[in-house]
Amino acid sequence: MTDDVVLITGGSRGIGAATARLAAGRGYRVCVNFRTDEAVAAEVVDGIRAAGGTAVAVRADVSRSSEVERLFRAVDEELGPLTALVNNAGTLEKQCRLDELDEERLARIWAANITGPFLCAGAAVRRMSTRYGGAGGAIVNVSSAAARLGSPNEYVDYAASKGALDSMTTGLALEVAAEGIRVNTVRPGLIHTGIHALGGEPGRVDRVGPLLPMGRGGLPEEVAETILFLLSPASSYTTGAFVDLAGGR
Ligand code: NAP
Repeated sequence: MTDDVVLITGGSRGIGAATARLAAGRGYRVCVNFRTDEAVAAEVVDGIRAAGGTAVAVRADVSRSSEVERLFRAVDEELGPLTALVNNAGTLEKQCRLDELDEERLARIWAANITGPFLCAGAAVRRMSTRYGGAGGAIVNVSSAAARLGSPNEYVDYAASKGALDSMTTGLALEVAAEGIRVNTVRPGLIHTGIHALGGEPGRVDRVGPLLPMGRGGLPEEVAETILFLLSPASSYTTGAFVDLAGGR
């Protein structure tokens, strides 16, 4: 058991859930944030507790500042001082061309994928930075290979939101480098999770995976391993870095 406390946004499913389980197995006390589905979040927490770990589930929409403040207060009170944040919550919508996007959809994508990580990173810095009397910590942003590829004919809005997140990694890493906080990014490619159903193609990984250099999609657990590395002292001299987990794509 360590004194490490990690908040994983969107920790109830997919990459977030795999990260929550792995972190708990390595001794972190874990906050599993979710937005809508309490039952799946509870399943992750129950699994961690059954294995002897410590975890809580907290509902909050990370794109709303009042909910983010409540989420971080819950971590303070239930788990202790935060030492790590995984900005994992993210979403996408039906595949389409850019000329079919409307204002409302753009606002939803920017809110979940840009505003959310910004608000959470700010709340984490106010707790972890030595400037605020904290003991330091680490942030990992979960971006996407889409930031480099642009996702044409699928979701350029989603790709652009991850591009914004990549810029945030670079800027924030430099802002807090001398304050004990490291900020890094993982950029997964095609990973077997439920997010592809939101785009209207649940079988997308099975369709595209065989066409990738490694001939397959990735597993949430493979992403979780790199996230844990970037949170851990094993990467103590790494900040502002981007790790591509895309099977060579
Ligand atoms: P997922 O299985 O759909 O899980 C998404 C998680 O995010 C869920 O726990 C969901 O909670 C939560 N969430 C969504 N919007 C939220 C909000 N506004 N506030 C709080 N929680 C919210 O997705 P995933 O594939 O694991 O994706 C995780 C991250 O990896 C995302 O940032 C995604 O863009 C990125 N990524 C995924 C892939 C891939 O191929 N899967 C590739 C590259 C990058 P509820 O279900 O309760 O709403």
